[in-house]
This record gives sequence, structure tokens and C-alpha cells, in this order.
Amino acid sequence: MRMASWRWGGAVHAGTLSACGRELTPLAVPQPERGVLRLIQMLARGEPLPREAGPRLPLSAVELVAPLPRPLRSLFCVGRNYRAHAAELAGTVFRESLPKEDAWPIVFTKFADCVVGPFDDVRMPARQASVQIDYESELAVVIGRGGIDIPRSRAMDHVCGYTVVNDVSARDVQVRHQQWDLGKSFDTFCPMGPWIVTADELDGRDTRVRGWVNGELRQDGRTKDMIFDIPTLIETCSRGITLHPGDVIATGTPAGVGMGFTPPRWLKAGDVVKVEIDGLGAIENRFAA
Ligand code: MG
Repeated sequence: MRMASWRWGGAVHAGTLSACGRELTPLAVPQPERGVLRLIQMLARGEPLPREAGPRLPLSAVELVAPLPRPLRSLFCVGRNYRAHAAELAGTVFRESLPKEDAWPIVFTKFADCVVGPFDDVRMPARQASVQIDYESELAVVIGRGGIDIPRSRAMDHVCGYTVVNDVSARDVQVRHQQWDLGKSFDTFCPMGPWIVTADELDGRDTRVRGWVNGELRQDGRTKDMIFDIPTLIETCSRGITLHPGDVIATGTPAGVGMGFTPPRWLKAGDVVKVEIDGLGAIENRFAA
């Protein structure tokens, strides 16, 4: 099932996308302005899909918004989770904090408020705020049934599904403050979508993640090459912290970010970044002045 959220007729609706990918069915979900959040919570409680709430619409007639336009709370994000990406940062200011083979994952958060839709503009910050804007193509895990201290062996039972995010990053701000949250959370810095594919239709543990800048393929990785796999990330994030239905874990980015080039290739106003995940779909965002 693909769970989507869209704007139509002056309101935000939540529902499902048909198997053919062309038709949206609005469902009677409370607070549709929260996207499919309440739907995820209902399914996590074992409730059936709610009734249809209006006419079906062609996908082409609506504006998709993020499936979770305002997530429950900050997103959990994983830093440097692909070996080739860790290697490309070995020559940068981040070399000091590269994870060891058997170390713990790097986990930071990205404010919920910076989520924007799958085709919305990302706003370039003022130059005094940052001059090193970068992209990160990522698979995001959406938690279904909640829990605390979830063991790896049962972690996949807690996955509702997956979505695509671009973990847009202000590198100079990340470095300046040591903690990454500020540099990861500028307004509009988390394009998400185009929908959530449920875990019965996609195994996020092995799919292809690609990213393009202005049509040039920059990132091309497989999630099976993660240093810390999805069950380990769920185990890690739930250690002492209750995960709730609708929580999001962005799983890290493959090699090919702008910072990894010599010299670095920072984004500039007018650039268009596309992120696509096999079995899921693509998001595409213009970086606007
Ligand atoms: Mg990232």
C-alpha cells in the first residue's frame, strides 16, 4: 500500500494511492493536515483502514505534500552509514569522527518543522547563515507499532514502511557547532515523499538509492551496503527511548555528496536535486534563492 497526502480544493487530504499509481483515494483520517500520521497510528493499533472520505482523484490533479508534513517530533537521522560515503569524508573536517567498524552509529536529529513536500522548493539560506549547502539522498524508515528496547531480531515488525528524504545539510554550520542539529534543520531542509510504501511491498534492507543534481547522477548506492542495518538502527534508537507510530529514522546517505568532491560542489540557487529509491519513487526539489 502507498499512503499519501495531498492538497486539493484548498485542504490537505490523506489516503492511499492505487496499485496503478494514477488514482488517489481519500480516507476518513482525523487531522489530515498531519498527513498520514493518524492513519499510521490507527494501523499500529490494529484498526482497519478507515472509510473513503470523498471522490477518488487522478494523481495528476493534486499537489502532493509530504506524507508526514509535520511529523510527531524531530526525525532520527544516522550519520555516515555507508562505507564509501565515510571514505569520501576521510579528507574533510569530519575525518576525526569517522565511525570505527564496531562502533555505535552516529545519530542526530532534524527538526520536524523543516519537512517540505516532495516537489516543493528548498529555500537557500542567507549567505551569513551558510555558504555550504549540500544534499543527502536517503531512505527513511517510518515506524509502525511503537516500542522501547526493541531487539534487532524483532525490529522489522515495528516498520510501517519507507519514504524518501533529502537530508539537506549546511556543512559549515554542522562543523561550527559540533552538534549537527542546527546545520541539518534550516527551514525547508527536509524534502520528503512522494508517499510512504508499506513494508509488505518494499524491503528497505536492499534497495537502490540514487541522487542527481541538475540531471547529473551523483549518488548511487544500495541500502544493503549500510554499515548499521535497519534492524540495528531501530534497536539503537529505541534503546531507553520509546519509539512511536509515525516516528521517522533517516538511514544515512551513500557516497557522492557535494562535500566529497575536491573541491567541494556546494549547491547554488537554481539547482534541482532529485532523489529516487527503487520500489518507492522520486522526489525533486529546486533550491530557490
Ligand atoms: Mg544524512
